[in-house]
Amino acid sequence: MKKHLIRNLFAIGVLICFAFALPNFSKKEFNVVIDAAHGGKDYGAVYNDYMEKDIAAIIAKKIEVLNKDNKDVKIHFTRTGDEFVNLNERVETINKIKPDLVLSLHLNAARNPENTVSGMEIFIANESDQKEQSAQYAKQLTDKIGKDYNVVTKEAGFYMLKKAEAPALVFEMGFITSEKDRGYLTTEEGQDKLANLIANFITDIK
Ligand SMILES: [Zn+2]
Repeated sequence: MKKHLIRNLFAIGVLICFAFALPNFSKKEFNVVIDAAHGGKDYGAVYNDYMEKDIAAIIAKKIEVLNKDNKDVKIHFTRTGDEFVNLNERVETINKIKPDLVLSLHLNAARNPENTVSGMEIFIANESDQKEQSAQYAKQLTDKIGKDYNVVTKEAGFYMLKKAEAPALVFEMGFITSEKDRGYLTTEEGQDKLANLIANFITDIK
């Protein structure tokens, strides 16, 4: 009886050791491509002096700064300055890296400036081998965004979502045409909060 107990305790001990050791064996760097949309001659959505290409680049830069001491997550970019990069080149960069996640940062705009539509949208590919994982990430990003913003997930046949050989999200961070959304999209405080939220989301899913 006693022998059995000792043997069982030994077995449990071995199991506990493995439980702690295994995550270290499987641990690898989590690669993320942040795709700051538009750039150069392509302004994206525009409202007065505000341009989608600039705000996307600002948020991307802030995420990079927030992540700089994070050894588990490596962040890559499809553009680092205000240059025009076409969708094909972006997809090429992505598929060379084969990241664990692609996050494409955009802003929405209402066609009619009188329209007060606001809120965030997350797009995943309607058809892709990575659809299930992308949907999972979209849900986790939605949970991270919480109740402070309005957010919906939609499916679309966007070129980048279809061609990326990686789980990919197009994140429309708000409407530049909405006064309410400009409250966070165009202020340092609002941009910091948004970048923090995205950086924390990446740390959570890695
Ligand atoms: Zn855009």
